[in-house]
Amino acid sequence: MTVITENEVIQEQITFESLGLAPEILKALSEFGYTTPTPIQAQAIPVALAGGDLMAGAQTGTGKTAAFALPLLQKILPLASTSASPARHPIRALILTPTRELAIQVEESVKVYAKHTNLRSLVVYGGVDIKTQTPSLMRGVEILVATPGRLLDHVEQRTLQLGQVQMLILDEADRMLDMGFMPDLKRILALLPKQRQNLMFSATFSNEIKKLSEAFLNNPTLIEVARSNATAENVTQKVYLVEQANKHAQLAEILRGSDASQVIVFTKTKLTASRLAKQLQREGLLADAIHGDKSQKERMEALEAFKQGKVAVLIATDVAARGLDIDQLPMVINYEIPSAPEDYVHRIGRTGRAGASGTAISLVSPEEEKYLKEIEKLIKREIDKEKSTVSAAARAPRDSHSREKRQDRGESMNPAPRPLPKSKSKDPWFDKPYEPSQNATAPQAANRPASSRSKTPVAALLGGLRRQDS
Ligand code: AMP
Repeated sequence: MTVITENEVIQEQITFESLGLAPEILKALSEFGYTTPTPIQAQAIPVALAGGDLMAGAQTGTGKTAAFALPLLQKILPLASTSASPARHPIRALILTPTRELAIQVEESVKVYAKHTNLRSLVVYGGVDIKTQTPSLMRGVEILVATPGRLLDHVEQRTLQLGQVQMLILDEADRMLDMGFMPDLKRILALLPKQRQNLMFSATFSNEIKKLSEAFLNNPTLIEVARSNATAENVTQKVYLVEQANKHAQLAEILRGSDASQVIVFTKTKLTASRLAKQLQREGLLADAIHGDKSQKERMEALEAFKQGKVAVLIATDVAARGLDIDQLPMVINYEIPSAPEDYVHRIGRTGRAGASGTAISLVSPEEEKYLKEIEKLIKREIDKEKSTVSAAARAPRDSHSREKRQDRGESMNPAPRPLPKSKSKDPWFDKPYEPSQNATAPQAANRPASSRSKTPVAALLGGLRRQDS
């Protein structure tokens, strides 16, 4: 196996032109505002263009999509056809992703890069009526982005043929394994021509990933843009040691005291994500949840609202958050830390992207301290810890403290902030399973009578927030 390290690539000398990309692709890149390849692109593109297999370690945010999409387009460009006949547009490149959101984002990028070519792309994923995807598939596409389960559904329905695939890309391979896609992957690989090029991307390099790469890749070049399992240097990490029952109060305090305009809060379960989103909405925050029980439409709406700044606090489970391309997120909070330490790396990779600084705060209960130790072992670093002093009873003085802080910063204050609810709610809603809301992006508070709405939205994220009742 060849291993390329960052030092071996003198990046300043590399341009998209010098990589030998076709004028059609270069035109799209320059129109889209890309001037220089990112480190993963500078390293991966030449290897992929030379036709070799690739095992690349890169997180979302590094530019990994273009690192595989550009060589892919370049390689199949000579086969592009203007013919309307589906037979002239067989699937030549298959990109597999673990989640629908990532699949959609990847295909959007492919479309942008391929806009001046005659290559067609399509995305297929589960959770929507399979029939709606069939007509476009039948017309023929050269590049198919798919989640594994839905791809196999189409195979069973004979709505697609994989016999002419010459490139396979496994994106976020580690997550695919975590999500139990190994049997599906094996089935798919058995359907592909043996003669093909394989590119595998993974944010983390576990032993399982190494095994997967040994099984599926042919003498791959290994590329890493950051030390494996390393966490970004520009992300400040902090742990609050806090009882589970006080986590909500601690979260509210962090949000109140923060300058961040947007935050992703991670939970372990869908139920906690839903409950927390509802709770924060009741407190006047523009919060929403994104998790696997929500319909695809709801997830996309919530994500779009977050991207547009209409939602300030996005509560997400690991699965739902994978692949979210949200630039310059200043802060992530782990309401519950993950039991798989690699997930911690994925989560905090949402912040501090593209050289920006970020903050990652984790609320760790005594029961979770064993997971914290595993995380510290993985990232080879001890995270700063502070014992939380927050409790339901201690809220009032701390609130006034953070009010002073904000007044010092000259921020507008409501003179009579509504106290946040005590840590446990009596509302029977919280005992109900998740029900999709009518409008995923409209916080609940907006639907309640004015009298019951928060007069003071949680101040934290207030800098960039519109008050719900204003
Ligand atoms: P990715 O890691 O593929 O999700 O990309 C993260 C973000 O970086 C996306 O918004 C891309 O559009 C952007 N990006 C990728 N490559 C470049 C580049 N060479 N120059 C500027 N932006 C880029």
